Amino acid sequence: MKVLVTGGAGYIGGVVSARLIAAGHEVVVLDDLSTGHADAVPPGATLVIGTLRDTSHRVLSEGGFDAVLHFAAKSLVGESVEKPALYWDKNLGETLALLDAMRRTDVSRIVFSSTAATYGEPEATPITETAPTRPTNPYGASKLAIDTTLAEFARLYGLGGVSLRYFNVAGALLDDGLALGERHTVETHLIPNVLKIALGQGDAVKIFGEDYPTPDGTCIRDYVHVVDLADAHLLALDAVVPGTHTIFNLGSGTGYSVRAVVEVCREVTGHPIPARAEARRPGDPAVLVASSDEIHRTLGWKPERDLTAMVADAWAFLSTGPR
Ligand code: UDP
Repeated sequence: MKVLVTGGAGYIGGVVSARLIAAGHEVVVLDDLSTGHADAVPPGATLVIGTLRDTSHRVLSEGGFDAVLHFAAKSLVGESVEKPALYWDKNLGETLALLDAMRRTDVSRIVFSSTAATYGEPEATPITETAPTRPTNPYGASKLAIDTTLAEFARLYGLGGVSLRYFNVAGALLDDGLALGERHTVETHLIPNVLKIALGQGDAVKIFGEDYPTPDGTCIRDYVHVVDLADAHLLALDAVVPGTHTIFNLGSGTGYSVRAVVEVCREVTGHPIPARAEARRPGDPAVLVASSDEIHRTLGWKPERDLTAMVADAWAFLSTGPR
């Protein structure tokens, strides 16, 4: 297939692009490089620099596209609370421009990068796709609005859409001389922040809250390896059905506490990695664990790489750098 990957210069979009190319697909990346990196676009993909609003119609007009994989987004929860209009404009507004360009050029399949943040504070664990969606911040709300828009476009215009709701993504792609991993200027994610302490960048891990109602008092999250996540996109791409919108959760079904993650990082790096308790980070639910039964049942997807593999690959990427 010939596919457009929006946000393909970012962490997840870059890894998915690499897996698409390895599977024989033709990949065009559209990215404004606001947070992505041109050298995260894998060899073999064509990079077009621009926003979805200004550029998606021009790129799709080139012709021959079978599908869009849509990753381009603002994704910092804290920033979304400070600047909600920016998140509605960049996430929902630019997606509407992309969908309009798809309609005008007759491209009718899309796989969308949605998020567990659409659910908000869960009533029950593990979270299934039928759980209530009550996002607690503009980031999650804007992603939920896109899921809703895709369902409406499926009903009205015959669009085929799959929304993949990611839980916590970690690890890196290390393959054939390629190394693609997390390179956020503002790093909020736990695993890279812990590994940076092992690299000597900072004196101690900050553990945001040790008084949650969990066995060790720290938050529990469901981590999935970025390569497993990427493979789910390839399965979803093949399974898109025109006129329908489907939602799948992507997680491992297993939760790890912040303390447990720090311990795995110590084992993998051989570094003592000091840690200290800090105040809770506003808006963090105590436990977020996915039920991925639906995607397992429907597409046969299940994660192959465990937390140790995620940390080992993230560590290999961080200690050697991108290539
Ligand atoms: N966390 C932490 N210290 C850090 C970064 C994150 O204690 O330096 C905690 C955070 O409060 C949450 C968990 O680790 O409970 C996962 O956070 P992350 O930002 O990686 O992902 P999120 O679950 O917020 O999407």
